[in-house]
Amino acid sequence: MKSGDKYIPLEKLNSIKKEALENPEKFWGEQAKCLDWNKTWDKVLEWHVPYAKWFINGRLNACYNCVDRHILNNRRNKAAIIWEGENGECRILTYYELYREVNKFANVLQNLGVETGDRVAIYMPMIPEAAIAMLACARIGAIHSVVFSGFSADALAERINDAEAKVLITSDILYRRGKKIDLKGIVDKALLNCPTINHTVYVKRNNDLKLMEGRDYCWDELMKGAKNYVEPVPVEANHPLFILYTSGTTGKPKGVVHSTGGFMVYTTKTLEWTWGINDMDVFWCTADIGWITGHSYVVYAPLACGTTIVMYEGAIDYPNPGRIWEIIEKHGVTILYTAPTAIRMLMMYGEEWVKKYNLSTLRMLGSVGEPINPRAWKWYYEVVGQKRCPICDCYWQTETGGHVIYPPIGIQDIPLKPGSATFPGIGIDADVVDEYGNSLPPNKRGLLVIKNPWPGMLMGLWKNDARYRAAYWERIKNCYCPSDYAIKDEDGYFWILGRADEVLNVAGHRIGTAEVEHVLISHPAVAESAVIGKPDDIKGEVPVAFVVLNKGYQNKKELKEELIHYVKETMGPIATPHMILFVNKLPKTRSGKIMRRILKKLIMGEELGDLSTIEDNTSVDEIRKELSDFK
Ligand code: ATP
Ligand code: MG
Repeated sequence: MKSGDKYIPLEKLNSIKKEALENPEKFWGEQAKCLDWNKTWDKVLEWHVPYAKWFINGRLNACYNCVDRHILNNRRNKAAIIWEGENGECRILTYYELYREVNKFANVLQNLGVETGDRVAIYMPMIPEAAIAMLACARIGAIHSVVFSGFSADALAERINDAEAKVLITSDILYRRGKKIDLKGIVDKALLNCPTINHTVYVKRNNDLKLMEGRDYCWDELMKGAKNYVEPVPVEANHPLFILYTSGTTGKPKGVVHSTGGFMVYTTKTLEWTWGINDMDVFWCTADIGWITGHSYVVYAPLACGTTIVMYEGAIDYPNPGRIWEIIEKHGVTILYTAPTAIRMLMMYGEEWVKKYNLSTLRMLGSVGEPINPRAWKWYYEVVGQKRCPICDCYWQTETGGHVIYPPIGIQDIPLKPGSATFPGIGIDADVVDEYGNSLPPNKRGLLVIKNPWPGMLMGLWKNDARYRAAYWERIKNCYCPSDYAIKDEDGYFWILGRADEVLNVAGHRIGTAEVEHVLISHPAVAESAVIGKPDDIKGEVPVAFVVLNKGYQNKKELKEELIHYVKETMGPIATPHMILFVNKLPKTRSGKIMRRILKKLIMGEELGDLSTIEDNTSVDEIRKELSDFK
């Protein structure tokens, strides 16, 4: 189904954007009607830099909006969650079933002594209980802090302690690449250092779960005795809905706090604008609930819209590279939202895997997490979307709550440029500025900033006001600074060039890491690359490139020279890599982002710092060895 009939004219979109910026209170007050409120707000916005309060004294419940209101209409028996396990096991929960489970689990939390405002840690695989636990917290006004289930005991303990969580919801094992991972073992180790946790609830998936008396409980056992209705607590709009720690790509993760009202309004509206979500959709966002994408666009926004979502536990290329396409065919997925790192991996497996499946239900695609290189964009568009599905490249962050730079392809047939997230979204006054905050002319590289508050904007960092101000508000006066580097082209399209802290400064020229990386990946031999700046006495910095080769290409001196020449020809001498290293794997965060800070430290021979968010340590060992061989 195409949503072409729903498109609004470009002039109309521009006038909406204009109105949203000129009269944000009126605009967002209107938009907030997408939710059910127990009490209307007294004032839409109070803005004292750097704190925004939205929908002041309005009262609502996020869980009610995601679940209860749908069972009052004909969505009652509609699939809310289609869950697929790695081994093909499948569970479908209708909105009514979700409602029942969430109510009962909310009562379980109450029985464990959880009250409004308490923090609950959730350390779970991608199973329906994870979403149920989040919604149950929201129902009673408890603040959840989801920790990605791939994290170690230390990383889990650090996050639990920072948030001072009272209860931990987890599961005994998770499945990944055919293996059972012992979460219980990790949790037991973490809890040795978590004095605030009183109780732990385990979803039992294995028979030999051993519980610690008085502390540990089994999900099913507690659910048996639970009440089947708990009144949703209407919280003030600025009551925190959750805390979520950032991915840790650039350093120690930050405990981002999101509100209930503003966050729910912003994510719900951006989901509508981004893909024109409707009741026919089967929406699959492959992000883990441990990341913001999993909060905003797996759980809260799609369920608030009454959408059917797909949740998948496991690797999208296991047991074979066709797994992702098989799930799309099986459930008739209409919108697929994934990350460039996944697209590049699927691309490496080749299009024969895609062609085995019928993907005709797809109508729109999405990409998030990193700048998408044009070659991967083209493959996604042509091979996966069969040139029929527009791609929404969504730029945003944990801190922004929802998409901030993205093409609203759900309401406008906007011309796309591969690799550009297009324009600032509705209600977002973004710009590219120099270090003094002056707006830069087209095609000049600079810092991305947002000059106004928007409802999805973080409320702050959990109990760390100084870091909140320092991290986002001190770089450019009165502007929110996401610390990404960008250009605006002559047509006003925004291109994200990489992290501001990772930008190269070669002989006074500033070059984004993504710029050089995209050139390298456009060469047929290159599957992935990461570029960093190495200090140089004459030029200040010189680019060094780490390259993962495509299958069939060999680690040869000639190929290195060819690649160096290729970058020089494409981008000019200034970007010429001083050195290229072929590696099997790049160090990435568990959310799939390249950790350039680690590469830089390896090159400099420095201490690596916080490695808790790295996906696979062997990548570091390999590069260390490669570097010592090089010397
Ligand atoms: P930390 O802040 O702890 O270093 P992180 O920034 O990786 O971690 P996230 O909030 O998950 O944590 O990621 C947001 C960042 O991801 C953005 O600031 C940007 O660098 C990158 N990003 C996300 N989407 C896009 C996109 N569509 N295009 C370009 N970059 C993107
Ligand atoms: Mg960040």
